[in-house]
Amino acid sequence: MIELDECENRLLQAALKAMGSAYVLWGIKVGAAVVAEDGCVYEGCNVESWVSGLGTCAERCAINHAVLHGNRCIKEIAVVMDAKNDAEPRPCGACLQYIYDFAQSARLKIVMAKAEKGKILLEKVRIKTIEELLPLAYRK
Ligand SMILES: [Zn+2]
Repeated sequence: MIELDECENRLLQAALKAMGSAYVLWGIKVGAAVVAEDGCVYEGCNVESWVSGLGTCAERCAINHAVLHGNRCIKEIAVVMDAKNDAEPRPCGACLQYIYDFAQSARLKIVMAKAEKGKILLEKVRIKTIEELLPLAYRK
């Protein structure tokens, strides 16, 4: 089991709470939370649409939430997925690029977890950097 620091625990709890607001039509409930340059935590959830490609992922929702409050730089992100799904919790390719676009550094940590019955499954938490998950990010 990975040892989590205070920030990671705080982000996971915020992402778990945000997962409860997910608007899913057929998919998986996902919550995300970022800590931004102002030190505040901004949450997001996935929002689906009946029109393919129109919905948004929890990670981009959380980053947009931070931007709305004047932040253009995020320090860390957590993603929590409902354990009902077999897939490993991790950002999709589009979100990895979006995280990279707003990341404070290539070493930004992405904390990934599943949740069951309102609790984070701590034994399955994984932490990777954005550079590990997207080594060939599109750069300006
Ligand atoms: Zn995504």
